[in-house]
Amino acid sequence: MDDCIFCKIINKKISAEIEYENDRLIAFKDINAQAPVHILIIPKIHISTLNDLLPEHTNLMGELIQVSKDIAKLKGIEKNGFRIGFNCNSDAGQTVYHIHLHLLGGRVFSWPPG
Ligand code: AMP
Ligand code: ZN
Repeated sequence: MDDCIFCKIINKKISAEIEYENDRLIAFKDINAQAPVHILIIPKIHISTLNDLLPEHTNLMGELIQVSKDIAKLKGIEKNGFRIGFNCNSDAGQTVYHIHLHLLGGRVFSWPPG
């Protein structure tokens, strides 16, 4: 999608600190990190929100979660713990309308989130 900032990262039109990439997804550092480790994992196809998921996206979304666990291990945060999450639409604070999985770690998080 032309005006999507994350599609531009996928197409290497704007730079990002890429942590992992394969044919289906890409993971890069959040530009405004909220924890020592804050990485966004996104599919390479443009899906705006969780509400737009189709049954055919099931494997892809599962792979995002599998990759989040692998990156957590690479970053050495798997034992102490980490958090993953999707924000969907405005009440949840979604600001970029290309679905993304936040991977956060390296500090203690409170629950429930604010
Ligand atoms: P959300 O609020 O869930 O939509 O999260 C969007 C996230 O994208 C925020 O944490 C932003 O800091 C992050 N972000 C926005 N633009 C960029 C960018 N160019 N590179 C890396 N992260 C970005
Ligand atoms: Zn996009």
